[in-house]
Amino acid sequence: MQYGYHCEECEEAVWPAAPRAELQWLKDRAHVVREVAKHVQGGLDTWISEGMAFLERHHGHSVFVTRRP
Ligand SMILES: [Zn+2]
Repeated sequence: MQYGYHCEECEEAVWPAAPRAELQWLKDRAHVVREVAKHVQGGLDTWISEGMAFLERHHGHSVFVTRRP
């Protein structure tokens, strides 16, 4: 089963390779992860970078964790 983020307003979705619980975790703590990312040498896991990019782009929109149809 694959999960991802879906933005209701833009009808856009992204499918980072991570379990549902991890995606929910990132979504709830995006503001913390963004701060931590500034101090991480060598970059973050791909799914975090992907997820963060989507969450930033859709900041203030209705974004949900969803299952890939
Ligand atoms: Zn959006």
